[in-house]
Amino acid sequence: MSCIECESDRIININAKVSDLFILKYNKKEHDGYVPHDIGLGGGDNLEFDLCLECGQVQDDFPVSEPEFSDEDEDEDDEDSDNEDFEEEE
Ligand SMILES: [Zn+2]
Repeated sequence: MSCIECESDRIININAKVSDLFILKYNKKEHDGYVPHDIGLGGGDNLEFDLCLECGQVQDDFPVSEPEFSDEDEDEDDEDSDNEDFEEEE
């Protein structure tokens, strides 16, 4: 495999199982959860992409469409349970 940008063969594959701990920040919005499938970086449980060590190009079809953000922050209807996410540390 050679780089789509510079044709170097120094391509590294990144595959990180992040499950729902993925955070994406974009345009002052933040997505917190599984990896979106529409940003060219894997999706679901896995953040996965091929990166050129020569020029830094991510090996995928770009541009991608605007990432969609769920409106979790605004639509939450359990605002009266503020302490639910609090976890006691041992
Ligand atoms: Zn390259």
